[in-house]
Amino acid sequence: MTIMEAVVPKGERIVVAVDGPAGAGKGAVCRSAAARFGLSYLETGALYRAVGLIATRTGLTGTLELARIAATMPFAYRALGAGCYAAFLGEEEVTLALRAEEVGQAASRVAALSEVRAALLGFQRRYGAGTDLILDGRDVGTQVWPDADLKIFLTASLEERARRRALELQERGEAVNLTELIARMAERDARDAGRAHAPMAAAPGAVVVDTTAMTLAESCQAVIDRIARLMRRS
Ligand code: C5P
Repeated sequence: MTIMEAVVPKGERIVVAVDGPAGAGKGAVCRSAAARFGLSYLETGALYRAVGLIATRTGLTGTLELARIAATMPFAYRALGAGCYAAFLGEEEVTLALRAEEVGQAASRVAALSEVRAALLGFQRRYGAGTDLILDGRDVGTQVWPDADLKIFLTASLEERARRRALELQERGEAVNLTELIARMAERDARDAGRAHAPMAAAPGAVVVDTTAMTLAESCQAVIDRIARLMRRS
């Protein structure tokens, strides 16, 4: 399977693609929209994080080994209720483990490899087959679902995104140094936006939503309003 494979025909379903940098609020906004409209939701970053987690645990770093992990890992992403999702590797629930800061960094490193990206593409395109779907990530609107009905690029200033991520980590009891967090996020942004394969970018035709000065509720509402408009049209 290659990154250029033909896109699955969409049929009558609605597909919403949300891209943007870490900490812009993609996950919370998508979960809220999924619950509101009964959409399936896939956080595509969880796939890259799962490869990053396995790489961290095993110490494997070779491109072929990482691509094999991506192609064969027993990854599952399951809806547990309205707007509530859990990630599994086989029988192990890894939802929280995937959120660790170091796993995000490992994910960003493995995500720069085209072989890993190609191995994860089929899962993303098959997910939620036949259902209305919302996905978030870095290249969902540019590579995974270029013919999505609605594309959104959700962003916010680096400082605001780092502040939000710091709160999230503190709530989980992780120690946070805001200056270091800003530096690590800037490094991850640069790697995600600067890589040769499927760099993070607003897709052609994407609506850019800057949430820097918005509350989470306002960010959710901005996206929900656009999906509601789309549903009225279809
Ligand atoms: O969205 P999240 O922060 O969980 O993603 C973790 C990492 O996975 C990102 O920094 C990025 O490198 C990678 N990723 C990607 N393409 C996606 C989703 C995530 O490259 N569609």
